[in-house]
Amino acid sequence: MKLLFLGTAQDGGVPQVGCSCANCSTVRRSAASIALIEDKDALIIDVTPDFRWQYHRLAGRFGVDISAAYLTHAHWGHYGGLMLFGREGWNCDKLPLYLTRRFHDFLASNEPFSELFQSGNLVAHILAEKVETVHGIKPVVVPHRDEYSDTVGLLIDLNGRKFFYLPCVDRLNTDIHNIIRSCDVSIIDGTFYDESELPHRDMSKIPHPRVRDCIREFSDIADRIIFTHLNHTNPLCEPEGEELMRLLDRGFRVANDGDVLE
Ligand SMILES: [Zn+2]
Ligand SMILES: [Zn+2]
Ligand SMILES: [Zn+2]
Repeated sequence: MKLLFLGTAQDGGVPQVGCSCANCSTVRRSAASIALIEDKDALIIDVTPDFRWQYHRLAGRFGVDISAAYLTHAHWGHYGGLMLFGREGWNCDKLPLYLTRRFHDFLASNEPFSELFQSGNLVAHILAEKVETVHGIKPVVVPHRDEYSDTVGLLIDLNGRKFFYLPCVDRLNTDIHNIIRSCDVSIIDGTFYDESELPHRDMSKIPHPRVRDCIREFSDIADRIIFTHLNHTNPLCEPEGEELMRLLDRGFRVANDGDVLE
C-alpha cells in the first residue's frame, strides 16, 4: 500500500483568497487530504474543496478508483468537496463514507449534504473510538473546535508499519504524545510555525500546536514526524526558506502535494 498526499495546506489552501503575501504569490498547496492506494483501489481521507483537481491527479497518476472516503471532522476544508459527489458532479453510487456519529447527524440534517445520503450517493459507516474498521483504520478522538462534529485522528496500518494521520488538532495532549511516540510515522498538524505569524490577531486565542514547539518536543524522534496542513502564513511553505532548511537539517519532514510514502 502507498500513502499519497493529495493536499497539504490548511483549509483555505495556498494561495488563499484575498491574500497577496509572498507565499500566496508563489506557492501552490491544496487543502490537506491523503489517499491510501492498494493496487487499483484508493481510500481518501478528507474530501476537500480542491477535490476535483486532487481526484484527477490521483486517477491520472495511479489509475485507481475510489472505494471509500473517511472524514476527520466538520471544518469545511476537510469535507467541503462532498458537494462534488452529488448529481451535479460525480454522482457516485453508494460510496462508503466513514465518519463519527455526531458528524453524520450534522450532515444528514443539513442540505446540501443530506441529499447525498437520500439519493444513495453515500452510505454512512459510523466510526467508533478506537474500533478498527474493515480497512484496518482506527479513529482516535482528539481535542479541536468541535462546533458541528467531534474530531478524530486516524491510526493506519501501512505495510505493517503504524501511521498516525492528525491534520487538525487544538493541542497535543498526553494521550496524543503517547500515540505519536508509539507510531512509526506521524503526519501532524503544522498549521502555524510560531506565534509571530498573524501579527493582527491575538494568536494565544488561536489553537493548533506550533511547529516550533513540536521540533523541541519530538527532537529525539524527528525522522518519524511529517508536518502537513500548513497555513499560507507558515514560513515552511517557502521553498528553501530558512525555517524549512533548519527543520529538514534536524531530521523532520514537511509534506508536499504529490509526495508518496510506502
Ligand atoms: Zn483544517
Ligand atoms: Zn497569503
Ligand atoms: Zn479543523
